[in-house]
Amino acid sequence: MIYVTDVSQYAFCPYSIYLRKIRKIKVVTPPMIFGDIYHRISEEIEKRERVIFDIFVEEDMGAEEIASIFYNDTKKVVRNTVLRNKRRITEDILGTIERLNQLFLRRSIDRALLLKEAMKTYRKKDIYDVVFPEAFTELSIASKKLNLCGRIDRVEEIDNKYYPVEIKTSTADRYIEKDILQLAGYALLLESKFGIPVDKGVIDYVILNKKYEVEIDTALKNDVLKIKNSVEEILNGYVPEKKRKKECDFCNLRDICWK
Ligand code: SF4
Repeated sequence: MIYVTDVSQYAFCPYSIYLRKIRKIKVVTPPMIFGDIYHRISEEIEKRERVIFDIFVEEDMGAEEIASIFYNDTKKVVRNTVLRNKRRITEDILGTIERLNQLFLRRSIDRALLLKEAMKTYRKKDIYDVVFPEAFTELSIASKKLNLCGRIDRVEEIDNKYYPVEIKTSTADRYIEKDILQLAGYALLLESKFGIPVDKGVIDYVILNKKYEVEIDTALKNDVLKIKNSVEEILNGYVPEKKRKKECDFCNLRDICWK
């Protein structure tokens, strides 16, 4: 089965699919490990946040106080997760904790502000569902019919419609086209699972503090399916040409290709 990430990777460079899938070359970089840890923390916070809100937040609290309640719990999750993964981290451990704390501090403040605003209109028991509608995190879907599978960072359900959210910890959005294809691949998987059209999604570059809402139309979905066929050709023995291009400067495989 083809992974949605293989489709987006193909858009970046077909030859990289050949190296990873056929030659089985695996490169793990510090930013990849950082991204993985970020996702683990995010998943854990997501599970705890609602409980923290129910138990510790009072209606007369200000946004700052609510943010501080969220953030104090978040710091514990960050620290524990980093320490559990310390053998994988090649960078400074305290520096990594600090970077993650800064990223999640923004999230605590944003969520507290949204909740405080909603408290003007709704009763506390209803607020969380209104402000943060039901979401699935790290949802894995495989479709035999599409011969496509993937794990979606977050899926939001609003008015019986589903929206994929792709969370990126990259420090630049120069390859947003590739990320848009990934989002469109997830839209196809959600359609196959729930049988409801998915026409929008979000790419959240957390380090850059930028969120893009993306329209996912039929042309984009067809692009995903076409590229998926090209990935299948590589898996069946076709070797794409290795070409020097600007992407090589930002590629984790450049030493293997060009040294
Ligand atoms: S270094 Fe260049 S040619 Fe090699 S896999 Fe990366 S992008 Fe492709």
